[in-house]
Parts: sequence; structure tokens; C-alpha cells
Amino acid sequence: MPRHVATVRWLARLISPGAWLLLAAWGLTQVEPARLTLAPYARFFCFAALAAAGLLSWYYSQGRVLFSTLVLGLAIWGLRTLPASADVSKLAAAFLLPLNIAFFASLRERGTVTPSGLLKIALIAVESAGVVMLGQVRGGPLEAFLRWGQDAAGPSWMPLGPQLAFAAASLTLLGLAMFRRTRVEAGLLLALLAAFVGLRQAGKHEETLFYFGAAGLILFYEALEHGYEAAHRDELTGLPGRRTLKELMSHLGGRYAVAMCDVDHFKAFNDSYGHDAGDQVLKFVASMISRVRGGARAFRYGGEEFTIVFPGRSAMEVRPFVESLREAIAASGFRLRGPRDPDKKPEHPPEPGPEKSVTITISIGVAENSKKLSTPELVLEAADGALYRAKESGRNCVQLAENTPA
Ligand code: GH3
Ligand code: MG
Ligand code: MG
Repeated sequence: MPRHVATVRWLARLISPGAWLLLAAWGLTQVEPARLTLAPYARFFCFAALAAAGLLSWYYSQGRVLFSTLVLGLAIWGLRTLPASADVSKLAAAFLLPLNIAFFASLRERGTVTPSGLLKIALIAVESAGVVMLGQVRGGPLEAFLRWGQDAAGPSWMPLGPQLAFAAASLTLLGLAMFRRTRVEAGLLLALLAAFVGLRQAGKHEETLFYFGAAGLILFYEALEHGYEAAHRDELTGLPGRRTLKELMSHLGGRYAVAMCDVDHFKAFNDSYGHDAGDQVLKFVASMISRVRGGARAFRYGGEEFTIVFPGRSAMEVRPFVESLREAIAASGFRLRGPRDPDKKPEHPPEPGPEKSVTITISIGVAENSKKLSTPELVLEAADGALYRAKESGRNCVQLAENTPA
């Protein structure tokens, strides 16, 4: 797949369904009958969505989502319940909301009920108290700062400060999403956009609630997706694991081929270069395997073994694809970062070793379904048998299962 197509697909996967939820909230506010019908439920929808996101992210120890949900909930609650005279508090809440979300997103995931989580709760509590107290203090440089650029007749009640905070937080989240390539930052960005659009709906309470509810749903989905990923994706390589392979196998029909791949002499590699270097190799091999063409679906089967399923293809058809994979890995000259002797304790400070190029090879066994190999489990077993023969015949080669028609 060309790189730009892959990037567009990745972006599309990243923003859906959050972008659709945001669009739905916008559509709802544009269609007057729908808006009027749903208006009485707006408050319930908003707080139920945020509560659901909060509970699920807490369940999955997704601190970044949980604390973002918490500040969204506090912000909308404050905006609705604080008296009109406390508009400085509302400005402060609108200013702090995006900064908090960007701050939580930028930190590493450290769970919810952990010392780091408790620190974040303390931070949120101090901020909330400060925001409420601001409502009672008139004048002063803080109020002047928050009101800076306020234009009562403009399209938004939000002065420049909160708008800039939203812009800076959005850019930070966008940068994090592009750099880390994980979903959660994209979800937080979309939730932030929903909150921003919601906050701009000055005086239209239901609209603001719809948008904050949409933000809640977006984060609920992110927490759900995280739970799914944690169960189905291998953490080291990012490939789906055996559970997903089993699911795919349960509904494989028609013609298909299965390739079992195994890194050669991997135990010896681990022994010579250490477990961390071994992990680097597995990541590298996984990234190569995930790029195999021919409609391939790659999985980490376990340890240094990978499975590739080719729906709709015969063993002979997939042979060139796996041959080029094998050749590409063997020719890659895998670069080791800082090799070390595993028996030696690390030096203090550890000396960065020179970059070293090591040849990595894999062996592959391929089988396809047939009358005899009538279930995916039997095909996998036959591919494993072919892999065994590939090892026997000197490794770094591809073998087809016996009785594969030419
Ligand atoms: P062969 O060429 O016959 O496949 O030999 P091999 O040494 O690759 O096979 P063997 O099954 O003896 O060793 C597999 C090794 O893979 C042993 C284990 O320590 C290592 N291994 C399994 N999972 C991981 C992992 O996640 N990270 C690292 N670094 N090593 C792993
Ligand atoms: Mg093995
Ligand atoms: Mg091996």
C-alpha cells in the first residue's frame, strides 16, 4: 500500500467515530424540531455520557481519559450552576479546561488510583476552588487577563485568553496524536473540539450540553477501544495477538492460506545481545510482517512466532509475498542500538556501544485449506509442520505444506 494511502487510512481510523459524533451533535443543533424534541433530555444526556466515560476509563485505568472527563464534567457543571455574577469564574474554567486536557494527554499513562492519579485529583481540586473563589473577587490583574480581548458584541463570549488556550491545547494534542500514533490523543482532541464548539454557544444551554455530551461519548468510545486493544493487541509489537487470530479463524471461509513465521536462532540472539535487543528484533520483524501485501493479516502468535493469514489466496499465490518478506528481512542488516554483554552488569553510566549491524533471518511454512485440511486449525498445524521442515532444511527459507497442489 502506498505510504500516503496508509497515512490517510490511519488518520480516518483515528478520527472515527469521534468526528461522526461531533458532526451528529452539530446536525442535532441545526435541525430545529430535533433540537426542541431532545432539549429536555440534554442535561441527562450530557452528564450520563460523561459519567459513562468516567466509569469506563476508571475501570480500564485510563487516567488520561478519566481526568479529562472529570475536568469536562466540572467545567460544564460550573458553567451551569455558578451565578451569572460569577462570569470571571466561567472565564477561568474555559481557560483552564483545554490546558488541563493537554497537560493530562502529554503525560505518560500512570493509571487512576495511583499516587500520580491522586496528585492530578489534588490539582483539579485546587483549580476548582480557585475558579469558584475568583467569582467573589472583583478586579485585579487576573480578571483583566481573563477578560483580555473580550468583545461582548462578538460571535463568542469567550475572550482571547481561553480561545488561545484552546488553540494551543489543540495543537499540542494534534502533535501528540501524530507523534505517538496512538488513538487516545486523537479522541481527546475531538472531545476538546466538541467542548470548544459547545462553549461558543453562548446562552443556548441545550447546545452546550449536547456538545459536552458528545465529548463524553467520544471519550467513552476511546475507553472502550482501549479495553478492546488491551485484550486483542500485543503490546510489544502492536500486532493483533492470538485471540484476534482465533476470531478471524472462526469465520474464515472459501480459499485461504496461512503462513507461520519463526525467527531463526532467536534464543542464541537473546543470549548474545540481551533481551532488550531481542525485543527490538521482534518489533522490527513485526513491522516488516505487517507490510506484507496480498491482503495479508498479520498476528503475533507468541514468542518469536508470527502468523499471516491470506484470505482468498492459495499457498502458491502467497509464496512470492512471503519470499519477498523473508528476503527483505535477511537483507535488512538490522541495526542494534548499544549492544552489550548480557552477563555483564550495566556500567554506570552505561557506555553507548557502537551501532552494529546483525543479520536476522526467518523461516516460513505455508499451507492452504483443502479437503484434508478442512479447518483453519488443521491448516495452521500443516503450516507449522512446513515451518519445521524449513528449519530442518537450513532455515532462512520458505516451505509449502506437503501435498500442496502446484
Ligand atoms: P529456531 O531457529 O529453531 O527457531 O531456534 P530459536 O532459538 O529461535 O527457538 P527457541 O524456541 O529455542 O527460542 C525462542 C526464544 O525466543 C526463547 C525465548 O527466550 C525468546 N523469546 C520469546 N518471546 C520473547 C520476547 O518477547 N522477547 C524476547 N527478547 N525474547 C523472546
Ligand atoms: Mg519458535
Ligand atoms: Mg525461532
